[in-house]
Amino acid sequence: PGRATGHAPAPSGTEDSACDFSQFADVKKIAIHKAVAKQWGIDSLYFLCHEGVARDTTVIGGKTCLNFSTYDYLGINGSEALNAAARAALEKYGSSSSGSRPTSGERPPHRELERALADLHGAQDCVVFVSGHATNVWTIYQLFKKRDVVFYDSLSHNSIIQGAQISGAVRLPFSHNDLDALEELLAAERHRYHRALIVTEGLFSMDGDIPDLPRLAELKKKYGCFLMVDEAHALGVLGPTGRGLAEHYGMDPGVVDIWMGTLSKTLCGCGGYVAGRAELVECLKYLAPGFLYSVGMSPPLAAASREAVAVMLREPERVRRLQETSRFFLDYARQKGLDTGRAQGYAVVPIMVGGSVETAMLAARLFHQGVYVIPIIFPVVEEKAARLRFFLSCSHTKAQVRQALDLVAKELPLVRQTAAAMAEDRD
Ligand code: PMP
Repeated sequence: PGRATGHAPAPSGTEDSACDFSQFADVKKIAIHKAVAKQWGIDSLYFLCHEGVARDTTVIGGKTCLNFSTYDYLGINGSEALNAAARAALEKYGSSSSGSRPTSGERPPHRELERALADLHGAQDCVVFVSGHATNVWTIYQLFKKRDVVFYDSLSHNSIIQGAQISGAVRLPFSHNDLDALEELLAAERHRYHRALIVTEGLFSMDGDIPDLPRLAELKKKYGCFLMVDEAHALGVLGPTGRGLAEHYGMDPGVVDIWMGTLSKTLCGCGGYVAGRAELVECLKYLAPGFLYSVGMSPPLAAASREAVAVMLREPERVRRLQETSRFFLDYARQKGLDTGRAQGYAVVPIMVGGSVETAMLAARLFHQGVYVIPIIFPVVEEKAARLRFFLSCSHTKAQVRQALDLVAKELPLVRQTAAAMAEDRD
C-alpha cells in the first residue's frame, strides 16, 4: 500500500547482451541495497505515494499520518488562493509555455513572478529556471571558468557542487559553517585565481543551521569574492516576514551578489531563481544553457508561486507561527533527551540517530504508528550522522509535535537494542 504501481514486463528482444542495463555496476548496487533493505524490513519508506495534498497530515496507502516529510513551510500548497491563481493561468495560457523563453515561451506570469522575487531580495532583477537543481548547476557553470575558484561550504547541496564541478573552476570546500577555516583558505588561495565565488546556504537542509552572514559579507569584501547564497530553505522561514537570511540579520540584501532560491519549498511550485544585479540576470537569460535551451516554466506554476509570494507577505503570522513551532520542536526534543545536532530551530530539525540501519528502522516503526518522517542515511550523510530529518510547517500544532517526539523518544532505545542484537547475531 502507498506504493506507485510497478513496471511493465520487459519487452521482447532485450536479450542483447551489449545493451543489458542489468549489467551496469550501479544497477547491481541498487539491487543489492534493495535486497538488504527488504531483509531488514526497512524497504518501505521511499517512493511512497501521497494520495492528496500533503499538509500537517497526509494520506498514504489509505492511512492518515502526521506528516513531517514535505517542504511546504507556510502551509499554503493546495490553498484556494494558490489554486485560483494556477487555474486562472491555466485557463488563459494552458499548461505549457510550449517553447523556450527567448523564442516562443514567454508568458506574463514569468515576468510577474520574477519581479516579485527581485523585490523580495531588494534586487534589480531575477530569472526563473524550471528546476531548482538546474538553477545552481547552470548559474555557477555560466559565471565561473577555468581560471576561477569556488569556495563552498562542505555540506552544500549537490546542485552547488555539481555546478562548481562542471564550471571547470578550482573547487575548495571549507568545513561546515567554519568561517575561520574559510578565511584561512581565502588568505592562502584567493590570490592564485582570477574570479572567486564563496557559496553557502541560507538554511542548511540536513542540519537546520544558518551561516554567519555579517562575517561572510566582511570576508567577501576583504578578499574580493562574489557571494552566493542558496535560500532554498530560508525563504519563508527566516526573518520576520520570511525574506530569508539578510532579513534575519537585519542586513542590506545587497551584500550578497547572487541570491539563489527554489520555488519548490515555501513557494509551492517547481523551479528555481537567481536574483541580483541586472547584468547578472541578463547574462544568465542570454547564455545559461539550463535556461536558454529549456522550456519556459509552466504558466500555472509560475502564477501559483507568484501568489505564494503574495500570501507570505500578506500573512506574516504564518512565518511567526512556523518560527514558534520550530523553536518549540527544538526545545521539546532536547527536553526529551533527543540529539538535535546543530539545529537552531528554523523549520528543519534533525534527530540524530547514528547508523543508517537504526535510522531506517526507526522511521519504519514511526510510519507504522502514524508518523511519517524521512530517514536520511548514508551516503547522503556520513554513516555515523544518519538521522531523521523533520520538516516543520506553520500548520503543525504543538500537540502534533509532542505526539511525534514522544513516539521518537519511546522507539529510539528499542530500535537501538534491536539493531545491537541483530549485529551480535551477525557476528
Ligand atoms: N538547493 C538546496 C539547498 C536544496 O535543498 C534543493 C533541493 N531540495 C535544491 C537546491 C534543488 O531544488 P529543487 O528540488 O527545487 O530542484
